Amino acid sequence: MSSGRNCEGVVELSVIAPLLDEEGSLEELHRRLTEVLNGREYEIIFIDDGSKDNSPKILKSLKESDARVGLVTFRRNFGKSAALAEGFYRARGDIVITIDADLQDDPNEIPNLLRKLDEGYDLVSGWKVKRRDPLSKTVPSRLFNRITALLSGIPLHDFNCGLKAYRRAVIKNINVYGQLHRFLPVLAKMEGYSIGEIEVVHHPRRFGRTKFGVSRFLYGFLDLLTVLFITRYTRQPMHLFGFLGISALIAGVIINLYLTVLWFQGFPIAGRPLFFLGILLILLGVQSFAIGLLGEMIARFGTKDAAIGEFQPPRV
Ligand code: UDP
Ligand code: MG
Repeated sequence: MSSGRNCEGVVELSVIAPLLDEEGSLEELHRRLTEVLNGREYEIIFIDDGSKDNSPKILKSLKESDARVGLVTFRRNFGKSAALAEGFYRARGDIVITIDADLQDDPNEIPNLLRKLDEGYDLVSGWKVKRRDPLSKTVPSRLFNRITALLSGIPLHDFNCGLKAYRRAVIKNINVYGQLHRFLPVLAKMEGYSIGEIEVVHHPRRFGRTKFGVSRFLYGFLDLLTVLFITRYTRQPMHLFGFLGISALIAGVIINLYLTVLWFQGFPIAGRPLFFLGILLILLGVQSFAIGLLGEMIARFGTKDAAIGEFQPPRV
């Protein structure tokens, strides 16, 4: 949604680089970004997400030597999503680029992202066609991307690529928290923005080490459920809980009616597993239905956005 109000940034381009302990790559990243962005009006915002190595010192000297460098330093590690959210909040550009700070993403891809954005997309995501990471990462990641694409209906190959370009309105209207940075395209789509993709080169990590272990995939799938719930049911929780509740209730009632008929015919029913299943389904059904009703009340009265139904107040 474009509001026409306060919609323009004060620079052409903001580059946001979230980082945690990336002392080895920062100077080169800054140099290469400067080369690529030469001739444009830009800012580079480093978000130091609680680094314990030399990164803070290096960033401080980069900021001192280059007025286009902005720096935010977190007291402790809050996670990549929080770092991006802070970057989005600070960004003054009409277009916002995010890039990982470990030089696995290539700054030379930025002009390609911008060209694709010019085709009219609101968000352009990189696709690491040849991902230069260990198999333990690439294989689950492919599965993860397939499932996310299937469930979200967004035909992207690589949801979690650090390299992305956004129009200003997108980043000012989405709320990224927890570990939801993996689903930024889903969050953007939920707000009605159009999404494009380009193939990008990816490099092996030359410095430091990855910050995400295998646990990311377990949490990733839980987060996917969260995102799907948020995108589909936040404003109509009854559609999920009511449906589940009524289905369980009807199944339970049918089962117990059948058993009641048997009981009248003189068969004992109290010891039958089906009897317990019937009772269980009825109880679960009523509970789920009640959760749906509560959810509807929260959706209606609990939040500012929901109180005005489908309409999202423009925040840009
Ligand atoms: N990062 C961060 N906070 C964290 C974890 C990671 O800012 O809690 C940064 C990290 O420094 C890097 C980017 O997010 O710039 C991507 O992380 P990483 O390279 O470890 O992920 P991978 O490439 O292994 O998927
Ligand atoms: Mg990396």
